[in-house]
Amino acid sequence: MPATPAWPPQSAPRLFVDAPLGQGVAVPLDGNPAHYLLSVMRVKEGDIVLLFDNRTGEWAAEAHDIRKRDVTLRVVQQTRPLEKVPDFWLCAAPIKKGRIDLVAEKACELGVARLQPVLTRRAVVDRLNLSRLQSHLVEAAEQCGRTALPELPEMVKLSGLLTNWPKGRHLFFADEQGGTPMAQALASRPGPAAFLIGPEGGFDDEERALIRAHPAAVAVSLGPRILRAETAAIAATSIWMALSGDWN
Ligand code: SAH
Repeated sequence: MPATPAWPPQSAPRLFVDAPLGQGVAVPLDGNPAHYLLSVMRVKEGDIVLLFDNRTGEWAAEAHDIRKRDVTLRVVQQTRPLEKVPDFWLCAAPIKKGRIDLVAEKACELGVARLQPVLTRRAVVDRLNLSRLQSHLVEAAEQCGRTALPELPEMVKLSGLLTNWPKGRHLFFADEQGGTPMAQALASRPGPAAFLIGPEGGFDDEERALIRAHPAAVAVSLGPRILRAETAAIAATSIWMALSGDWN
């Protein structure tokens, strides 16, 4: 007997839509998403597209009413529930455009629940285009199979972040001047966590003292070499996911 073909097809395009999904819901698309489905993915009448809405999980939908620039997707069946993302925040100082985009993409793929931009004194960038970052998060989520998007709050100052730090969340502070080795720091601190990564210029002495004095903070070393901020962010997130997150 031939094997039952996989359904939904593995090649089905996957899209985030910002509208609640459910059995039978019709999702009209135009603009970029329609262009992507029709011109890039060459979706035809009746083809399956996977949709997720960051609220209800993932659904298979059928393409109908295809016209030159628009298409309607009709939801036929739920394929996955909304996932539970590991309770990990990446708190990162803004860095140059292409590099912070990379951090957003990788943070999403690696599984963070929140990307929190944090303004520090030596940051060479003091403004962030949140909608551009959001589109990198969405694209990464579409590609890697997430059903929930990472949260992306407005940038906060370091002092504000520390003052309003939630009770019960560990604040691992990547300190280029040294700290507890990573695996050791994580082993004794399970539960909700965040990593704080500095900008290209690092933290200044006053900031370092302020962070170290915070009751939730623990200074962590990422080894003897100075990493670029984006490398530190990706490495720290990966190690947390492997040791304390959902990589097992
Ligand atoms: N210009 C600084 C380095 C900044 S590196 C200097 O020369 O000292 C950018 C950020 O990455 C740092 O603020 C820190 O959060 C993180 N980082 C880089 N290398 C690290 C290491 N070996 N251990 C811990 N954190 C590190």
